[in-house]
Amino acid sequence: MDELREITEHLLQFAPDALIVIDDANRIRFANETVRELFGHAPQSLVGKPLDLLIPERLRANHVRHTAGFMRNPHSREMGARIADLFALRADGSEFSAGIRLAPFRIGGKLFIAAAIRDTTERRLASEELVAARKEAERANRAKSRFLATASHDLRQPMQTIQLLNASMMKFLPDAQVRELLQQQRQAIESMTRLLNALLDISRLESGAIEPVSVEVSLAEIFGELRSEFSSIARARELDLQVEAPRIVLSTDRTLFYQLLQNLLGNALKYTDRGWVRVKCATEADGVVISVEDSGIGIPADKLERIFDEYYQVDTHGTKRMGVGLGLAIVKEVARLLGFAIRIHSRVGEGTQAILRIPNKYRVASGVASVEPAPEQVAASAPRKARLFLVEDNDGVRIATELFLKLEGHETLSARTVAEAEVLLERLAPGDVLIADYHLDGKSTGLDMLLRLRERAGYDVPGVVLSGDLPSVLRSIKSPVAACHFLGKPVDTTALVDAIAELSTTAQRPPG
Ligand code: ADP
Repeated sequence: MDELREITEHLLQFAPDALIVIDDANRIRFANETVRELFGHAPQSLVGKPLDLLIPERLRANHVRHTAGFMRNPHSREMGARIADLFALRADGSEFSAGIRLAPFRIGGKLFIAAAIRDTTERRLASEELVAARKEAERANRAKSRFLATASHDLRQPMQTIQLLNASMMKFLPDAQVRELLQQQRQAIESMTRLLNALLDISRLESGAIEPVSVEVSLAEIFGELRSEFSSIARARELDLQVEAPRIVLSTDRTLFYQLLQNLLGNALKYTDRGWVRVKCATEADGVVISVEDSGIGIPADKLERIFDEYYQVDTHGTKRMGVGLGLAIVKEVARLLGFAIRIHSRVGEGTQAILRIPNKYRVASGVASVEPAPEQVAASAPRKARLFLVEDNDGVRIATELFLKLEGHETLSARTVAEAEVLLERLAPGDVLIADYHLDGKSTGLDMLLRLRERAGYDVPGVVLSGDLPSVLRSIKSPVAACHFLGKPVDTTALVDAIAELSTTAQRPPG
């Protein structure tokens, strides 16, 4: 028994923490040997002294308040929620950051508080360093996003010019060899455009600038659009593309959702040399499951966990150069923003399965999204090429666009400013099409101009609106705009020609 008491006594005196006991008058009644080491006071010399002796002067008033509160409701707890707030005073007047644990107890009805105290200076420094490092990393990340957004946005105008000039030269130069070179140039332009778009997308997503705007989205419609966007690529790669069209309606951000599926389907086609690519949809108890599957090259198991990282690419059989390594990073960010879960399963040589889980709360139960019946297309007997009014404030882009459109056989009139356009547009006649840049000057957009024009003309003047930031523009439009195509910059020349052709067939006849 004596031995046990000795052990207890030893433990108490030499515990790793400094131990003190105070009474309800804040006087020290006991201090162990570790107190000497930590505070520089002889333990015995403290007994009977006020606790204030161990507290830096500037903190004493605060401490008295806290102690009073603790005495009213005594229970074991850690003192002070944030370690940075607690400091203790040594005999030599210096201070240290302290972690303190309190345990109240009673003897004969009298309240005592035992406190275990340790020096947490190192922990505090480490945590301060961690906070500073995190702040610095966040700042650097914001700067990176800003740089990426600005750089890729400003690169779009010259890219647009180069793209249009390339398309024009293709028309001008009949020589087969030159055309071959131009074709290669075009491929380089296209891959640079893809890179620009991906950089701009990821930087916008990361900077938190994008807030999803939910609307009713019919999966049948979205899947239909995916099918028409990707069917020519599938045909060119001799792949069987199957897209099921489910009758399901979701409430989500249409542009972001489409972008997510576009990236998954783009990858499936890119990394499949033979066989098939399928987009399927199933409903399960907890939600809707969309899968994009392919019979392609697959992803090695040890690479799977990194494929969502920015700029990460699996280098299999020289496929690395096919992308820029941002597609899945965009998919991950968009899925997070929309509240969906994304997983990828894959087997090398067999294929890959991307599975998107959409919780039931995003499903519109009874709503049937209004699928507008396709307007009846009356084939014009001999459609003349529409006359075009082009409004673009960037000189390079305007000159190149005008040249390209003229070579396409369109009479094209162009204006540089809103004021110039207002004068020019007085000559507008039914059948003419307006092509306008969205960001014209600080006050007015190309879309505003189109809407004003429609009000004056009294009918839906057909229009094409071009923007370097198409997703934001689309998101800002509250209701659909009839007879208007929105195209991203740098514009795909084929898409521009198709849009003009479609608008001019539906708008051949003057109204009423
Ligand atoms: P990338 O622009 O290179 O396609 P992603 O971020 O979209 O970048 O994809 C990252 C990497 O994941 C790709 O480089 C590719 O190796 C691999 N990957 C993505 N999807 C597939 C797929 N369907 N089949 C095989 N590999 C894929």
